[in-house]
Amino acid sequence: MNVRKITIAIDGYSSTGKSTMAKALARAIGYAYIDTGAMYRAVTLYCLDNGLLDGDRVDEAALEQRLADIHITFCPNDEGRSDTYLNGKNVEAEIRSMRVSDKVSIIAAIGFVRRDMVRQQQAMGRDKGIVMDGRDIGTVVFPDAELKVFVTADPMVRAQRRHDELRAKGDTTTSLSEVLHNVTERDRIDTTRAESPLRQADDAIVLDNSHMTIAEQNAFLMGAFAARSHSC
Ligand code: C5P
Repeated sequence: MNVRKITIAIDGYSSTGKSTMAKALARAIGYAYIDTGAMYRAVTLYCLDNGLLDGDRVDEAALEQRLADIHITFCPNDEGRSDTYLNGKNVEAEIRSMRVSDKVSIIAAIGFVRRDMVRQQQAMGRDKGIVMDGRDIGTVVFPDAELKVFVTADPMVRAQRRHDELRAKGDTTTSLSEVLHNVTERDRIDTTRAESPLRQADDAIVLDNSHMTIAEQNAFLMGAFAARSHSC
C-alpha cells in the first residue's frame, strides 16, 4: 500500500467552518493550507482603501489596471497560523471585518479578478500535498482533485457561529440579523454569479455540519482522506 500526495478541495457555503476544518486537516496530515477566501477578501480591502468601490459599484477599469499591483501572500505568525498580507502589510484581522464581508462577493463575481486568483491558486497547488478551501476549488481550480468535500449547514446555525466569532474578536455592534443577512446574501451572489458560481462538484462528498461537533467533522475528514490517499 502506497501513500501518495493528493489535492484536497473543500468548498461550500459561507461561514460553514470550512477554513477551521481545512486548517485542522492540513496540520494533521502535514499538508499546506490555502484559504482562497482570504485572497478575494484582500482584493476587496484594496478596493475599499483605494476608492475603487462606491457603494456596490466597482471601478472595474481601474481595478483591472491595478490588479498587477495587488500582491497577496501568506506568512506564518508566532502561533504557527498563516496570516494574509496585502502588499507587505498584515491584513489578517481587517479582511475578516464586516466592512470587507459586505462587499467581497461583489468583487469575487468579477471575471478578471477570478481568473487572476485562480491562476495564482493553481500555481500554489502545482505539487499537490495541499488543502485548499473556497467556492470553486473542486469545480474550477482543481477539477481533478482526488478528494472534494462540499460543506453545508443550516443558515441560522452558520450566522450564530459567525456572530459568536465576531463577538470573540471584539465586534459588539454587529447584530445576529445583520450577520444572517450577510451570510445569505453572499450565498445568493456566490451561487448565481455568471463566472464559476458556487456549486457542488459531481464527485464531491457532502458534509452537513449543522449538528456536528468539530471533533466529529475532523474525524469525518480524516476518514475521507485515508480512503483517498492510499493506493495499491
Ligand atoms: O471563504 P470566505 O467566506 O472567507 O470567502 C469570502 C468570499 O469570497 C465568499 O463569500 C465568496 O464570495 C468569495 N470566494 C469565492 N471563491 C473562492 C473563495 C471565496 O468566490 N474560491
